[in-house]
Amino acid sequence: MEFKEATLEERHMYYKKEWKIKDLPDFLIDSLKYREFCFDHDGNGPKDRYETFNSVRDFERFMKIKAPYAAYSSISYYKKPGKRENWMKAEIVFDIDAKDLKVRRCDCTPGNICEICLGDAKELALTIIDSLRSNFDLKNIFLVYSGRGYHIRVLDEEALYIEDRSKIFDYVTASHVPKDLFMLHGYPEVFRRMFAFTFSRIKDIRSKEILKNRDEIIKRLLDRRIDFLDCVGESTKRRILKNVAEINAGLADGKVTIDTKRILRLPSSLHSKVSMICKLVKNWESFDPLKEAVPKFRT
Ligand SMILES: [Zn+2]
Repeated sequence: MEFKEATLEERHMYYKKEWKIKDLPDFLIDSLKYREFCFDHDGNGPKDRYETFNSVRDFERFMKIKAPYAAYSSISYYKKPGKRENWMKAEIVFDIDAKDLKVRRCDCTPGNICEICLGDAKELALTIIDSLRSNFDLKNIFLVYSGRGYHIRVLDEEALYIEDRSKIFDYVTASHVPKDLFMLHGYPEVFRRMFAFTFSRIKDIRSKEILKNRDEIIKRLLDRRIDFLDCVGESTKRRILKNVAEINAGLADGKVTIDTKRILRLPSSLHSKVSMICKLVKNWESFDPLKEAVPKFRT
């Protein structure tokens, strides 16, 4: 599939005929008046900022008339969203962009995407969600297809007030090597799963021994076998684990997670650069963006 930019005419067609207010997730409708909205009207970035809407109808009218190139809303709730003042709380978000993935199964060059790396991005998102659920007991989690990757949006009430989010980011992305790699649960388990994701996709492995045994190495680590990397020496083993942790740290955009005033592409809006719909994912396992997030003017 070709990811071609939408024309002004196509944007208007999308917002007039296809976009519906009910496509906006309930968690945004319910908090509409506490959010800051931002718009990019010409493809030069979200310069129209500090927009607020008091009613769903006002918002609907705005979108239908303006047919923005891109639309965003704050992840934060403000008492005065039009001034970005009196911050109340903010969703915890993770931004996984397929075009920036440091490891992927396809041959896309940086900045490009295909069906395969979109699949990699989803697998990564689901792995992180699983860790958020099992390690932080978070339940109110939404997955959004962003147009070129995925957003994870956490709306558990008690999580919305956490201001220092870097530790959660480091934990669920497995950004450092655990002291006890083989502990059954907790961080070591998160690390082993992320190791499997990353190590299975690393391309610049020079050791023939490792390349030959890659699947077995992963399987053994997931089985918590201390001999999982016996084909190399101890220092090489340590180097590999560190290298994987470093790659893990860059798989999602940490800047987005730690920023409690971030704006995020609005689910239901059109990502005009690639002509795809930013969409709340209902069925996480079966969702296929190339079938479900393509606007009608491209089909
Ligand atoms: Zn690709």
